[in-house]
Amino acid sequence: MRIILIGPPGAGKGTQSQRLVELLGVPHLSTGEMLRAAVRAGTPEGVEAATYMEQGHLVPDAIIVGMVRRRLQAPDCRGGCLLDGFPRTRHQAEILDDLLERLAMTVDGVIELAVPRDELIRRMLARKREDDDPEIFAKRITSFEVQTAPLLDYYGQQGKLASIDGLGTADEIFERVKEAVRRFERSARGL
Ligand code: AMP
Repeated sequence: MRIILIGPPGAGKGTQSQRLVELLGVPHLSTGEMLRAAVRAGTPEGVEAATYMEQGHLVPDAIIVGMVRRRLQAPDCRGGCLLDGFPRTRHQAEILDDLLERLAMTVDGVIELAVPRDELIRRMLARKREDDDPEIFAKRITSFEVQTAPLLDYYGQQGKLASIDGLGTADEIFERVKEAVRRFERSARGL
């Protein structure tokens, strides 16, 4: 299975992706994680990306696309993967479609973790990590609403979108995630 997980910052994507990759037995491709690793390692890509990330802005496509392409081509991704944090714009979704086509791969389904803005802010204030500057956090939510939310239409029109309620306990949400995966499996089998 090749699945994309979409959700605003603070929606609980981290927890759900960990559980999902375990369930599916596929690698977790998180562009946020890849970027943070590049920043820590001080690679040229990391140094450039850091200036955008610190401001809550999206990193230029040229950096992201190269990283994702290398990862998708790796042998452990032949049988599927969970894409988390990519694509984040309609343009990235089109680039991904192109990349996958060249590799004879497809997206089986897209899961949206839906959480209202005021709840995201409430969660952020409650957990208050040191990298959670409230202003930057609000910018990341706005970037999601403006740049990433249009992706939901893109995948909805392709009949690939499962929007699930991101409110509740991690277990409750994971039940909804599993239900979405079962739906993707049925449609992959043409049922
Ligand atoms: P995340 O952990 O997914 O919230 O990503 C952390 C930060 O990395 C984001 O705020 C962006 O600055 C950057 N980033 C992650 N994925 C992407 C992407 N697909 N396109 C552009 N920037 C990204």
